[in-house]
Amino acid sequence: MHDRIKSHRRRRIPAVTRILDALGHCDLPRPVIVDLVRRKLSEIRAQRSVPEFESIMVLVRRSLDELRASKLQPVINGTGIVIHTNFGRAPLPPNAIRALGEIGSGYSNLEYDLRGERGRRGSYVEGALALLCKADAATVVNNCAAALVLIVRHFTRTKTDVVISRGELVQIGGGFRIGEIIEATGAKLREVGATNKTTLNDYARAIGPNTAMILKVHRSNFFMSGFVESASTEKINDLARKKGLPFVEDLGSGAIVATKELGIADKEPTPAEALKSGVDLVCFSGDKLFGGPQAGIIAGKKRLIAALKDEPLFRALRCDKLSLAALQATVDLHLNQKKAQIPTLALLQISENELRARAAAICDDLSKSCFGLQITSGRGTAKTGGGTLPKSNLPSVTIDIIPKNSSLGDFAATLRAWNPPVIGRIAGDKFKLDLRTIFPHQDGVVIQAIMAACTK
Ligand SMILES: *Cc1c(COP(=O)(O)O)cnc(C)c1O
Repeated sequence: MHDRIKSHRRRRIPAVTRILDALGHCDLPRPVIVDLVRRKLSEIRAQRSVPEFESIMVLVRRSLDELRASKLQPVINGTGIVIHTNFGRAPLPPNAIRALGEIGSGYSNLEYDLRGERGRRGSYVEGALALLCKADAATVVNNCAAALVLIVRHFTRTKTDVVISRGELVQIGGGFRIGEIIEATGAKLREVGATNKTTLNDYARAIGPNTAMILKVHRSNFFMSGFVESASTEKINDLARKKGLPFVEDLGSGAIVATKELGIADKEPTPAEALKSGVDLVCFSGDKLFGGPQAGIIAGKKRLIAALKDEPLFRALRCDKLSLAALQATVDLHLNQKKAQIPTLALLQISENELRARAAAICDDLSKSCFGLQITSGRGTAKTGGGTLPKSNLPSVTIDIIPKNSSLGDFAATLRAWNPPVIGRIAGDKFKLDLRTIFPHQDGVVIQAIMAACTK
């Protein structure tokens, strides 16, 4: 007994090479593995006793699995949230993917005019975006937050105050608040009205010698109902004209196709509609309802777009060739009215019947091979998500599973550990996969993953 305790105390930390040998082949780069093993060993060193070699290997393997899972990789989205910020928002159109390959794999005329001179980056896409937004001009930066920063910086160079309604100081994904983004530029927020009510008079009273601009932010990811009031874009525009102030609207999601046309009850203003109401500039994201790559699109008055592009900050926020390539392909699809080829829009359009047929086939397949499992198809409500159309629930169809030999949490974890990971949600006593956000070509993989999970 005494001896055993002694030997336990004296057990030595294994050498890194011994652990690497025992690991065998691993698909992560060797320096990454070595670094992880060293960190694990120093954690062990800090403890009072050294575990057995096999326990150390279990620890190391588990950490390697976690590290591998943290690599950027495709996942199957069974949440029913079409524009899911955590899952990379818009799946790109095939044309955009092709453009990424073509432009990314070689040289391009990014800043070269094929007449043999230096050219302008993004000149085609800017023109096409202007046309799409029925604007005089347009440009692109990295994302909508960057667009907002650029715009606010430009207009607050001599005067400080940005007038904005208290009901529009929204928080967007990732804990980013519009108010904080504006203040980060050095501008001062001049909040007007109350959370639920902002009248034109509230705007009028707030305008003074320090006012630089009026900003309207579309409430894209939530809605208010009840005792609410807000001034219309047209009315605010009249006021801005009278006071000689720039008026900008952050539209957020950027619905190009009228939401009515998508069969969605929520009304989202299009950039063209906002500009028609007199707004000087609009900005919106490229990867929400626009259905393209991450980008911040700005459209509006030619003089203002030109001035924004002259800002030194513009250089720091400009898009790379890959974003421009994917955006160019997406803009062309919009101009050609090929919304069926824009996955984000196509997913919103799938009929319930189609989803029901797929659900029946999946349930049929699984009930033949997974005996321990209770599987049915259910009714679901998919969501646009990503800070768009907060009210519009889309009827959808789910695969509902009650596992027999494992808890719901363990079942969900097994599917997340599948390659590619399958992500659903737990509601009540069921695990649910919403088919609206699962591409039909992924149904086979989903079936395999569930089979593996139920035989585990
Ligand atoms: C999503 C959103 C943003 C931020 O867009 P990003 O492209 O993610 O930077 C800004 N404003 C509103 C109203 C939004 O909905």
